[in-house]
Amino acid sequence: MKMCGIRPLLRLGAAALLCTFCVAPVRPVQAAVWLTFPESWDVGQAFAVSVTADTDYKDPVITWQGRKVTLDVEQGGAGKISYGLLGSDIRRIKPGNYPILFEFTQGKQRYHIKGNMTLNPKKYPSEKLKVASRMVNPSKKSLPRIKKESQITGVALRTMTAKRKWTTPPGFPLSRMHITSHYGFHRIFNGQPRAPHAATDLRAAVGTAVRAPFAGTVILTGNHYYAGKSIYVDSGNGVITVFFHLSQIKVKKGDRVARGQLIARSGDTGRITGPHLHYGLNLAGQFVDPMPLFETSVTNLLKKGRQMKVLD
Ligand SMILES: [Zn+2]
Repeated sequence: MKMCGIRPLLRLGAAALLCTFCVAPVRPVQAAVWLTFPESWDVGQAFAVSVTADTDYKDPVITWQGRKVTLDVEQGGAGKISYGLLGSDIRRIKPGNYPILFEFTQGKQRYHIKGNMTLNPKKYPSEKLKVASRMVNPSKKSLPRIKKESQITGVALRTMTAKRKWTTPPGFPLSRMHITSHYGFHRIFNGQPRAPHAATDLRAAVGTAVRAPFAGTVILTGNHYYAGKSIYVDSGNGVITVFFHLSQIKVKKGDRVARGQLIARSGDTGRITGPHLHYGLNLAGQFVDPMPLFETSVTNLLKKGRQMKVLD
């Protein structure tokens, strides 16, 4: 295939790059552009990607797992840089090879560059839980409510804003972080298997202060059948945090929140076995394990990726 001026610096196994846009007969004005993404990563875990260039580029977009992720362009890296945080939801994505598509505009040309990533299997344990039987098999009467709430939260989780408001590591949502149920736990409610846990449960007495781990904008609050009183915060580039089973919500839809701002008091509303905070991290539609990010940064995650020069 003709490579139209896009030459991969490295062609290594699953991470080989391929230009999919080959129409320009005249080589456009261009400067060096590098893409960074991991060659392989564990399913359920967050990973970082970046685009960086020594000159201006516009409208960077990454397509991952069927979703277009709009990135910001900031000063840094080789001159300009765009950061992305992506991942895979253990409930929806199987280990295997997946395409990752980078797009950006430089000069008058839109570039489309396709890479491949391998998602490795990762073992998550299982746990047995006892809850009120109406919460395992909801009554027929509750089904329309559950369906409506799932539509509303689905729309919120499709929010995509270009401005990056997230920074890493995030702040802690609770001042004491004691995990009671890990991400990925295969859950057996009253003897019946259900989808794995897509968040982390943290021990919290009713009334404990809940703080926003990232700056962002409140995109949804509600009192839902399973989640109880809940908050969804958009921090840009598809990074959305969720807080369930609250007793008090201190923000409303449209509010801007700062990193570390008190947004709620924890509680015991919705499907629970006892008071706790259910803290979820959604990356472009994928709920990932939120915990490892507390101990690292996007810069450190990028070091585990492969940097490739795609234009020069
Ligand atoms: Zn939970």
